Amino acid sequence: MSITKNLQDIQSQLPEQITLVAVSKTKPVSEIMEAYQAGQRIFGENRIQDMVEKYDEMPKDIQWHMIGHVQRNKVKYMAHFVSLIHGVENFKTLKEINKQAARHDRTIDCLLQIKIATEDSKFGMSATEASEILQSEEFSDLKNVNVVGVMGMATFTENQEQIKREFLSLKAVFQDLKKIIPKLETISMGMSGDYKLAIKCGSTMVRVGSSIFGARNY
Ligand SMILES: *Cc1c(COP(=O)(O)O)cnc(C)c1O
Repeated sequence: MSITKNLQDIQSQLPEQITLVAVSKTKPVSEIMEAYQAGQRIFGENRIQDMVEKYDEMPKDIQWHMIGHVQRNKVKYMAHFVSLIHGVENFKTLKEINKQAARHDRTIDCLLQIKIATEDSKFGMSATEASEILQSEEFSDLKNVNVVGVMGMATFTENQEQIKREFLSLKAVFQDLKKIIPKLETISMGMSGDYKLAIKCGSTMVRVGSSIFGARNY
């Protein structure tokens, strides 16, 4: 199957209001260009350094999403172009993004990553932490970040009921946070293996890699 065909298949099945982030991590520019030629403009990377290199080489109408763990000392390398940061795991990181965005006179859209999985290996903050951040005075002073929603990753399991429970818990967290910040609009959840279930559970943005580009060789 070609990248173009994979993309068309997925796009044709996605409800219109769902945003598709094509996860291009580990993939070379040549393959990402194939997706670009097929019309895809939003790409997700999980390492800042890789994303910067691809940004430099590729057309400038691409929206680059940082979907991985954000190391605070590397925020400065992506602050001039990143379009959405999915993995904001704590207040310190949000403040660093604000600081670096200000240096470029930008406002950077961010999602708060909520820990919904039972695995210890998954990153993210609790629902309580997220609501405390959004209600704090310090947060209202951050003029160069725009929190637009939440992101979460389900446990790596075959158990569909468990994945569904975790997705629904993220949706519930989103609804609670929306009471604090009514303009919240994005729920980033769902990957190649579970994006259809994620959409049923209220996802507005899916992050799909291997179903578009094929399996990754690390
Ligand atoms: C790699 C990755 C994806 C995409 O995974 P696939 O299973 O290849 O679709 C989605 N989200 C995050 C955070 C990832 O790191």
